[in-house]
Amino acid sequence: MLINSVTNAIVALLFFKFIFESILHFINNYHILLRRKEIPPGFETFIDLPTYQNSIDYTLMKSNFSSFCGAWNLIFDIFLLTSGVLPFLFETGLNWFGSKNFGQATTFFFINFILSLFWIPFNWWRQFHLEDFFGFNRSTQNIFWADRAKEYLLSLIFGFPIFYIVAWFFQGFSQSWWLWAWTIFLVFQVTMVIIYPLLILPLFNKLTPLPDGELKERLLQLAKSTQFPISKIFTIDGSKRSAHSNAFFTGIGKFRHIVLYDTLIEQMTTEEIAAVLAHEIGHYKHQHIRTNLIVEGVCSLLGFGILYYLSSGTWFLESLGFQTEYILVPLILIFSIAISGITFWIDPFFNYLSRRHEYEADRFAADALGQTEPLISSLRKLHKENLSNLTPHPIFSAFHYSHPTLLEREIALKSLIVDDHCVKE
Ligand SMILES: [Zn+2]
Repeated sequence: MLINSVTNAIVALLFFKFIFESILHFINNYHILLRRKEIPPGFETFIDLPTYQNSIDYTLMKSNFSSFCGAWNLIFDIFLLTSGVLPFLFETGLNWFGSKNFGQATTFFFINFILSLFWIPFNWWRQFHLEDFFGFNRSTQNIFWADRAKEYLLSLIFGFPIFYIVAWFFQGFSQSWWLWAWTIFLVFQVTMVIIYPLLILPLFNKLTPLPDGELKERLLQLAKSTQFPISKIFTIDGSKRSAHSNAFFTGIGKFRHIVLYDTLIEQMTTEEIAAVLAHEIGHYKHQHIRTNLIVEGVCSLLGFGILYYLSSGTWFLESLGFQTEYILVPLILIFSIAISGITFWIDPFFNYLSRRHEYEADRFAADALGQTEPLISSLRKLHKENLSNLTPHPIFSAFHYSHPTLLEREIALKSLIVDDHCVKE
């Protein structure tokens, strides 16, 4: 059993995160339960009581499941940090695959593969019980297991060469390796943004160009009026796995794609889908993907700086039971466990930024359409069909929500009309 100041500090970070998270869930659950009997004012026009109550039950079940996963994660991480199992797996990996860069990269994937197996039952239960219970699951066992296999294959195809190159820099450039690693990470991030819609997404879903007709015509006309040069609008067979609906904008430069879920097209009118597209164009016009890449770049530089600091002495890894000169693999493994105790407190900042982006995109959509009604009704449908929580506790949503709540978005959109009136009058 490894108990010393380093393991204690990491466990304390993870434990504090778990306690705070549990309190947040408790406050939020209590808050929404109090509102279960009646539909909150303002929502009764588009949602009926059984659907509203179903959305609360869905939120509560997801919350309980998330708390259970959090508890399991904490226990599992403490076990990994203190039992000596990671040093044992690492030594076994090096013995099997060798200690050269290739052997280290293989060991890294071998350990990650074993650790990830412990999470598959949770994913399985969520898909085939939780989602199924509320009528969202459309996946089959075959699709589920094929998805897992593809994910492993992709992480090997992309992750293995990256780890190999980083290990090479680590060996040859003892002072500047972390800056090289960061550069590789950035190049990878940008590459992924470009190739995701072209190569990754088609592995999981069928992308079909939107067929000619009224909808396509309306969307192209909107693109023209907002000077958004699109050639490609796709529909995706999201219904293959889930009844949840969505739309997103992906890629940068001439590789940008607009992707609409088939479930979204089923649920919405042409004008509502146009509003959704206008919102996505808003993200593009305000350069949100670029902003996110820059913010992530700065944060990851900080992360690599911490890795470099931890790699410069032996005290850190020795406290965790690693007696080895090949420190890169254990360093990244421990770092990836401990870092969630820090990023948890930074996430609200990212969520705040994301919510601001959503407001900007909403505002753009309202301007582009010259009215707010289609966007409001599309947001209402999205919330209703996805059983989204309509009344989260303000502290919970400020901490966790990447999108403003429906009510916040409606208020912001309606205030735009008031502004317009003031201008006109
Ligand atoms: Zn958005």
